[in-house]
Amino acid sequence: MTGRVAVVGAGAAGALTAVQLMRQAGRAGRRAEVWLVDPAAHTGRGVAYGTPDARHLLNVPAARMSAFPDDPGHFLRRLTARDPHAAPGDFVSRREYGRYLGEVVEETAARCRHVRLNRVRERVVAVRERDGGPVLRLSGGGELRVDAVVLALGALGGDHGWAGPGLRASSRFVADPWAPGALEGPAAQGDVLLVGTGLTMVDVAVTLARPGRVLHAVSRSGLLPREHLPVPAAAVQAPPLDGAHGLDALRRGVRLHLAAGRRRCGDWRPALDGLRPVTAALWQQLSAADRRRFLDQDLRMWEVHRHRVAPATAVAVGALRAGGLLRVAAAEVVGAVPGAGAVEVSLSDGRRLRVAAVVACTGPRMDLTGSDDPLVRCLLEHGWARPGPAGVGLDTRDEGRLVPAAGARAVRVWAVGAVRRGNLLETTAVPEIRVQAAQVAGAVWGVPGVSGAGSSPVLEGAVSPAAPVPVSAAP
Ligand SMILES: Cc1cc2nc3c(=O)[nH]c(=O)nc-3n(C[C@H](O)[C@H](O)[C@H](O)COP(=O)(O)OP(=O)(O)OC[C@H]3O[C@@H](n4cnc5c(N)ncnc54)[C@H](O)[C@@H]3O)c2cc1C
Repeated sequence: MTGRVAVVGAGAAGALTAVQLMRQAGRAGRRAEVWLVDPAAHTGRGVAYGTPDARHLLNVPAARMSAFPDDPGHFLRRLTARDPHAAPGDFVSRREYGRYLGEVVEETAARCRHVRLNRVRERVVAVRERDGGPVLRLSGGGELRVDAVVLALGALGGDHGWAGPGLRASSRFVADPWAPGALEGPAAQGDVLLVGTGLTMVDVAVTLARPGRVLHAVSRSGLLPREHLPVPAAAVQAPPLDGAHGLDALRRGVRLHLAAGRRRCGDWRPALDGLRPVTAALWQQLSAADRRRFLDQDLRMWEVHRHRVAPATAVAVGALRAGGLLRVAAAEVVGAVPGAGAVEVSLSDGRRLRVAAVVACTGPRMDLTGSDDPLVRCLLEHGWARPGPAGVGLDTRDEGRLVPAAGARAVRVWAVGAVRRGNLLETTAVPEIRVQAAQVAGAVWGVPGVSGAGSSPVLEGAVSPAAPVPVSAAP
């Protein structure tokens, strides 16, 4: 019997999941069809690696960006084959990394002879169950009947309530700076307000900055991402920490660990990196109230230290700030009135700005119950998914399968990446995603040792499609 699995989303997480599904089916000598569904033109690029701007660099060194958890040197070998001078600590362009992921998908598909990869360039707008298996409804009106689904949706759009209805409806508001051509309209000239001061703002500033215009960047904290060390150092292993003793005790333990790391290495970064392997466990040990407190009080500080920019990017941002081309402040938008030639913005620090455009660089939506994404709404409305811990993302089991709402049936739907944030806290970077992709593929195929507890192999009781699938699919 041929196992049929649909992966919804063809960014980094979807690409890595498709690769693992093909590899693991291939190794087991199993016939399988994998459907990779995403309206995006490319495969593997998604938001982070779809940028055409070569100045947008990876924020993780090349040595840690392999597609495969069991072959950590894979990306670096690929780089050195092209450039013998490439080094483990290099921060290469994200465009190059997107190309790599696309190649990995193509090569895997070519190698796994009993597995067929179908790429569908449509959006999944709903899911329903028929004969015990999921049926995906596509934006073009077709249906795709499969035995299992893996959601790799990425971070779903942020909450833009701060912009007010007038600005949101205006052509001078850029809701998604990653959308193709988004920065080529009103944001291309004149002063611009960037709302958010994280990784997205940094990239947008690098792209938009030029003499004669000022980019204003604001966020509640006004904090910018820190930079990596010029030469990455080995992580300092964390001492035994236990979130069950409460957030205050955990904060103390983490501070002591960082101070010890600073004494040993002269810098806090190796100790912070040593927290990476234990972050999910610590997060899960915290009580629900402490998780919410962390999100309110610590998240921003955690993120600017944990998700750092490449040294070259930090230098570029420093130069923009020193030259007055980028002004960063801790402030919120309290009013924004779009007019004929500009947007008049009032900020909480009392300033009034007249800008050509306002670009939303805010983080992703944490609470998906307010999402207008039709697929997520469908899953929540049917009870096939429920909000994750602390109300963040969707709740998943250890191996990634969606946890249904109370009284609802579990469907054969798994998830990787950003929607698992409530369970794992850190779930969006490639070093985390590649592990999830392998685990989810193992759980879907029922491979012992790869899947987590409670897996539900796709071929157990799977129902073959009764009729041809009415969608366009290119291998
Ligand atoms: C600016 C920036 C820089 C980053 N740099 C790094 C880095 O250097 N290293 C690192 O490890 N991580 C980095 N990250 C983290 C990054 O989020 C991940 O590495 C990666 O982009 C996550 O990929 P993803 O597939 O989960 O999400 P995305 O890239 O957002 O892809 C999700 C895809 O799902 C599709 N989709 C969504 N809903 C549907 C639907 N209903 N039907 C069909 N398709 C759908 C979308 O079209 C999209 O193509 C960075 C993030 C940002 C924002």
